[in-house]
Amino acid sequence: MKTFQCSHCQSLVFFNDLICLNCQHSLGFDPCSLTLLAMTPVSQGSAEDNTQTIGSSGLWQVAGDASTEQASPAGAFRFCRNHTDHRACNFLVAEDDPEGYCVSCRQTRVIPNLDMPGNLQRWATIEHAKRRLFYTLAKLGLEEAVSGGGGLRTPAYEFLEDIPGEIPVMTGHDDGLITINIAEADDAERTRRRVDLHEPYRTLLGHLRHEVGHYFWDQFFLNDPQAIHDFREIFGDETLDYGQALQQHYQQPRGDWQSAYVSSYATSHPWEDWAETWAHYLHLIDLLETAANYQMAFTLKSPYGPISVRCLDPYAAMAGLATPQDADAPPSAGLIELLNQGMGVSLVLNSLNRSLGQEDAYPFALTTPVLHKLGFIHEIVQRKRSESCAI
Ligand SMILES: [Zn+2]
Ligand SMILES: [Zn+2]
Ligand SMILES: [Zn+2]
Repeated sequence: MKTFQCSHCQSLVFFNDLICLNCQHSLGFDPCSLTLLAMTPVSQGSAEDNTQTIGSSGLWQVAGDASTEQASPAGAFRFCRNHTDHRACNFLVAEDDPEGYCVSCRQTRVIPNLDMPGNLQRWATIEHAKRRLFYTLAKLGLEEAVSGGGGLRTPAYEFLEDIPGEIPVMTGHDDGLITINIAEADDAERTRRRVDLHEPYRTLLGHLRHEVGHYFWDQFFLNDPQAIHDFREIFGDETLDYGQALQQHYQQPRGDWQSAYVSSYATSHPWEDWAETWAHYLHLIDLLETAANYQMAFTLKSPYGPISVRCLDPYAAMAGLATPQDADAPPSAGLIELLNQGMGVSLVLNSLNRSLGQEDAYPFALTTPVLHKLGFIHEIVQRKRSESCAI
């Protein structure tokens, strides 16, 4: 993800920040313009009769730029209720929006019991990861709340905890509802599960990206015979018995997954292959946006000589802004360049991690069949993006 600048003092600030450390303004993220804004409370009452109280209305407006005094967007906002109640969100809500919660938090239907020790932190950590997901989907034109349509509904979320004596909470997706077991927000517990399941990578953001992949599968393919036909050509027949396929995977996982899948779990069923590959697509897009934001450029060694890489912003590249000379090329042509850059960035990233004694940040090698699947996803995203009003 890109970094932001405080709209008042231009200091470097980050997506999840609540306050600008330089000018001390509260920061609010506007999910419509996808910008992080310095906010100032709207004062209420009259200054003349001394009844003016700052911020009592709960309304905020954008603080003007320190040098130009210009404030944009105009109008008043409220902070999301999860900001006011728990300091667990920094998204803004337009004054005329009847909802108390922001466009991301209102997608959450059930949260864990916050009276239980540790649950507030676990839940807040998940909501943070979910807002990152919201941002990426919005940039791709896949968030109805931002794109204003395109026929896509919005997923709903439940963040649940295991209750002793009851059936354990399964992280998963069912008909538009994404359930996450909040134990996944505990670093120690998530690491234990990752080791137990022999997974090289397990993160909250990864879970959300995977599960929302199932949600978009329903959106893209369920009622489109041609699309489902194309899906089966690449990922296989998803009418295969799901429960049986999963059971078989857990009993005897395929040893040859590296040749054509992003993960061992992706071999279990075409739906899981799609969701795993979809998650990697979002990983790579986000990774590249971050690298491009820092104007990252590097040189890789190869038998054919040095290869210079200058990272492109993937969203600009998709819009044809970064590579105008490729305007007539098929959509997947742009993807190959993006994927090559993404793999280059992950190589640098993994090398830096090893220098610090850390494990690889992106422990995957993408083979040709996987690149083919990513290309299929990219073309669908491009199509859906052009159908909605992407930012
Ligand atoms: Zn500032
Ligand atoms: Zn919120
Ligand atoms: Zn899945």
